[in-house]
Amino acid sequence: MQQPITGFHQDEEDHWVAELACGHNQHVRHDPPWMSRPWVTTRTGRESMLGYRLTCKKCEEGAPADRSLD
Ligand SMILES: [Zn+2]
Repeated sequence: MQQPITGFHQDEEDHWVAELACGHNQHVRHDPPWMSRPWVTTRTGRESMLGYRLTCKKCEEGAPADRSLD
């Protein structure tokens, strides 16, 4: 299922995590071909990716949301 990116945060290991509209999180640096994409390291790069749709495997698996939607 394709879900748009609504925001980003860094996890406890400083890896960037995309926040998807469905409530799931996805590591952007651990998911080829996103790995080592330089855009995620800059604010403007991340902002340019807001709304970009990523395939959410968690939705396809019916996984519970990673964060509350409000
Ligand atoms: Zn999802």
